[in-house]
Amino acid sequence: MATKLPKEPVVVIGMGWAGGIIASELTKAGIKVVGLERGKERKMSDYLMVHDELRFQHREELMQDLSKETVTHRNNSKMRALPMRQYGTFIVGDGLGGAGSHWNGQTYRFLPYDFEIKTMTEERYGKNKIKADYPLQNWGITYDELEPYYDTFEKMSGISGETVELYGRRSNPYPTKPMLKTPVLEEFEKAAKKLGYKPYMMPSANLSENYENPDGIARAACQYCAYCENFGCEYGAKADPVVTVLPVAQETGNLDLRTHANVTQILNDGTKATGVIYVDTLTGEEFEQPAEVVVVASYVFNNARLLLNSGLGKPYNPADGTGVIGKNYCYQVSSGYSTLFYNDREFNLYAGAGALGIEIPEFTGDNFDHTNENFIHGAGIRSTQYGNRPIANNNVPIGTPSWGKEFKEQSIKYTNSILQVKSQGASMPHRQNYIDLDPAYKDAYGMPLLRITYDYTEQDKELVKYMAKVTKSIAEEMGPDHIDTVGEQAPFNVNVDTNTHNTGGVIMGAEPETSAINSYQQMWDAENVFVVGASAFPHNSCFNPTGTLGALSYRAAEGIETYLKQGGSLV
Ligand SMILES: Cc1cc2nc3c(=O)[nH]c(=O)nc-3n(C[C@H](O)[C@H](O)[C@H](O)COP(=O)(O)OP(=O)(O)OC[C@H]3O[C@@H](n4cnc5c(N)ncnc54)[C@H](O)[C@@H]3O)c2cc1C
Ligand code: SF4
Repeated sequence: MATKLPKEPVVVIGMGWAGGIIASELTKAGIKVVGLERGKERKMSDYLMVHDELRFQHREELMQDLSKETVTHRNNSKMRALPMRQYGTFIVGDGLGGAGSHWNGQTYRFLPYDFEIKTMTEERYGKNKIKADYPLQNWGITYDELEPYYDTFEKMSGISGETVELYGRRSNPYPTKPMLKTPVLEEFEKAAKKLGYKPYMMPSANLSENYENPDGIARAACQYCAYCENFGCEYGAKADPVVTVLPVAQETGNLDLRTHANVTQILNDGTKATGVIYVDTLTGEEFEQPAEVVVVASYVFNNARLLLNSGLGKPYNPADGTGVIGKNYCYQVSSGYSTLFYNDREFNLYAGAGALGIEIPEFTGDNFDHTNENFIHGAGIRSTQYGNRPIANNNVPIGTPSWGKEFKEQSIKYTNSILQVKSQGASMPHRQNYIDLDPAYKDAYGMPLLRITYDYTEQDKELVKYMAKVTKSIAEEMGPDHIDTVGEQAPFNVNVDTNTHNTGGVIMGAEPETSAINSYQQMWDAENVFVVGASAFPHNSCFNPTGTLGALSYRAAEGIETYLKQGGSLV
């Protein structure tokens, strides 16, 4: 029997970027917030002098414990889904700050095209360009409407970058200057310029200079230490909820933060939530936390899982395309890249940062003509310098055995002599790609696991073929001795590490028939439930998601404030 606690105005499930922004904005406005986080407390000093690749990158200490909770996956609905028992594709965050404590910090805005993708595609290419199996839709908000919230997110986190002509209008320049352009990035820049492209420095949440944000939070500049992706930052140079929004919320005295609090259910009467049930994972004790407003900010997977487990919203049915919860699950398309091997050149690949990169805008969104292509949208073509660490640094030409003498020789030969031209492609929704509750497997608390039914589509395969030609042409211009290009998209494999950009499942839109939430992230079916995070995206763009989910979180916070005053639907 759960212990019932006194009612509070707002309860937030999950204390990552989405939950942290909501908590910070509401508490600043004088609203009491209970923040429930299933993982442990985290602080910047946890990372001091612990550049331990084995511990953080390979044993994934900052990530969700897969022995307690995981997801199941199958490539199509005829297969039986099996639990992901070791990390590969999806690296799910856990603990204060969520995945924001160990992300890279590549912080983009999506394109105006993204938000009105259906209308703009049909206007330019006709109604038949989008096949019936791809339930593409507009987002119910335009880029111009979201722009002020992007600006707020960028100022809060101190994003460095430069304005790009082909992208959406900016009301302000980036708050900090671009990161340093290293000799590695100059190699890409020279080649791209020769081919007529306009390279720009990747927008970065690794601070390029010391910075104080509008909340008065001061942080130090990045040291290019190379222990960034999968690691916490010991300098606070990488924007992380723990060093930005959460201290602001705590300072107000209005945030009641409870770690080791795993929410298992959102209590509701079918039209409104009344609170949540959570388990204290240290004692096993169960609590009921009643609240006026429930904010679900527990990442794409658990956002959908909690709603489905709580009977909130209509589950998606892939057979007839009805229902919304679990719909339009998308990923990211990362094949099409080229690896460049140099016999007689060495680069300083041991320095780097999570968002140190350069790229070209010409193949993103609808910035090139798709009339003769069997795909829409595009890819960010980029070169990055994250910094090589000693263990996971064994790139060898395709065809080299994966162990033994030849592998060792090639690995040593190229250890500091490999560059890459990467392609990060958009992911369009497909009717047969979706998430629901697994009928067989449960987590340590008895809640069904989330089941992912997903494979790459024809659209993805065509996109990869096209982008492979682009990356190869730039690679050739960079003059290496050997190039390997991955020109075909292999079937989706949950054990292969590509990236962790999951989107969809609780999507936003202008109509309740085809979306779960409105543009304030408020559920159509339960007006006091706000579902925040990349679960809201009706498709995934060719950019990393956090800038956009951050902007949407600021808008949601504004919506919650209004809702607490006047109630009802916000649109
Ligand atoms: C290695 C890595 C690198 C990345 N790099 C980039 C990048 O460069 N750029 C970019 O845009 N994105 C990047 N991402 C993705 C980015 O980290 C996420 O988009 C972002 O952090 C998601 O924020 P969120 O608040 O929605 O979810 P999360 O950060 O996952 O936070 C959700 C929180 O909810 C908690 N939670 C979950 N379920 C429950 C429950 N039932 N009860 C209580 N609490 C719960 C979790 O423990 C977690 O702390 C990266 C991700 C990883 C893993
Ligand atoms: S590379 Fe920069 S931002 Fe990343 S962990 Fe190192 S110092 Fe921090």
